[in-house]
Amino acid sequence: MPEPDRLDGGPRSVIVIGAGVVGLSTAWFLQERGVRVTVVDRAGVAAGASWGNAGWLSPGLAIPLNEPSVLRYGLRTLFDRQAPLHVPATPDPGLWAFLARFAAHCTGASWTRAVRANLPLNDECLEAFDVLTANGVDAPTIDAPITAVFESAQQAAGLLAELRRMREAGQEIACTGLTATDLAKRLPQVNVPGGAGVRLDGQRYVDPGRFAESLARAVVSRGGTIRHRFAVTSVRPHPHAVAVRSAAGQTLSAHAVVLATGAWLGELGKRFGVTAGVRAGRGYSFTVPTDDPVPGPIYLPGIRVACTPYRGGLRVAGTMEFRKPDAPLDEARVEAIVASARPLLTGIRWDERTDVWVGSRPVTADGRPVIGAAGAPGLFVAGGHGMWGLTHGPVTGRLLAEHITTGKQPEALRPFDPLR
Ligand SMILES: Cc1cc2nc3c(=O)[nH]c(=O)nc-3n(C[C@H](O)[C@H](O)[C@H](O)COP(=O)(O)OP(=O)(O)OC[C@H]3O[C@@H](n4cnc5c(N)ncnc54)[C@H](O)[C@@H]3O)c2cc1C
Repeated sequence: MPEPDRLDGGPRSVIVIGAGVVGLSTAWFLQERGVRVTVVDRAGVAAGASWGNAGWLSPGLAIPLNEPSVLRYGLRTLFDRQAPLHVPATPDPGLWAFLARFAAHCTGASWTRAVRANLPLNDECLEAFDVLTANGVDAPTIDAPITAVFESAQQAAGLLAELRRMREAGQEIACTGLTATDLAKRLPQVNVPGGAGVRLDGQRYVDPGRFAESLARAVVSRGGTIRHRFAVTSVRPHPHAVAVRSAAGQTLSAHAVVLATGAWLGELGKRFGVTAGVRAGRGYSFTVPTDDPVPGPIYLPGIRVACTPYRGGLRVAGTMEFRKPDAPLDEARVEAIVASARPLLTGIRWDERTDVWVGSRPVTADGRPVIGAAGAPGLFVAGGHGMWGLTHGPVTGRLLAEHITTGKQPEALRPFDPLR
């Protein structure tokens, strides 16, 4: 058991469960506040969604998932194995109950609430990355506009309208419409004659695997411990400490525990009153060589695919599949991404793809993450960021570390109360 006395009223030792970008960021910012941290993961660093994602740090596009149009789109494509949004026709009552709650939140009012809640995270997210990269995390974040590409000006108008709604809700956004000629000049790889684009400035991207690994090394070099293959099966609060137990029967304890288990958060979380019900929205990615370098991220909203310059080639990411987070990779989903993207881009060697990957976005029913104190003393939760957990990971860690060490919920975390 850790020593029960706490010099400043805050916990002096914390166990973080989950070595994804959210857990590692929380650990790093807790260390900033003098807390001793142990991070445990059932596999290893970035074993979940934090490795193969698209790497966009994009406050301007951090649009909550529970948009009314997503519901219309989802109903149209339900059960279509080729569609970017896929729900398997399985008898999983928990999944259907979650989807019903998600559908009930696909309203203008709920979406606007989520956009407004995200504003402080969006305001500070890039600065939180800067704090990490200026202090030993060796993974540069690269400033580059994101270019959204459409087959017609009418489709581009749809995204511009969505960005306008974000702006009306208070989000700062710098975007410009592009003609087919502008697109051809800026992105020779794009093949949409007669198409149109939207350029979104003030965004960045990063190699997400390198970022997570370097962040983990920074946590260790500052005195933290990272335990791999430590799958937590139970969390038990005691009067002055919280104990966690692994599947192999090992026990660790500290003054406080943070559950940052991504798409697996629902399992342990619900025992502590976290009713937001996190579910896995699985996405796929792979890397392809390109004939010429691609200058910056490309977004293909019509097929819901994100492309990012990555280690000399292009990382292509897409699909949202509601299956269990540990279900095996489905090669048909990868082929569906290739079939939909191939006609829109040239100079891409699709058949030479490597690093084929599946990962689970932690999706909540109301489009808001869960960050803060859970239903037992010393127990905290951080996750459920859905499509934007990389962008919001470091700022989440910074705000939660403040909450844990001061005992006061920062105003910015109020809408994300895990017990809402
Ligand atoms: C295809 C795709 C593209 C994406 N693109 C972007 C993007 O461009 N920008 C962006 O901001 N976001 C993006 N995301 C979302 C982002 O990747 C996630 O929101 C984010 O990585 C979630 O981080 P996390 O730390 O909460 O979870 P994870 O990274 O999943 O980490 C959770 C960790 O918990 C561990 N764990 C689980 N259960 C236990 C247990 N019982 N005991 C111990 N350890 C446990 C897991 O092994 C895992 O390592 C994308 C996601 C996908 C799938």
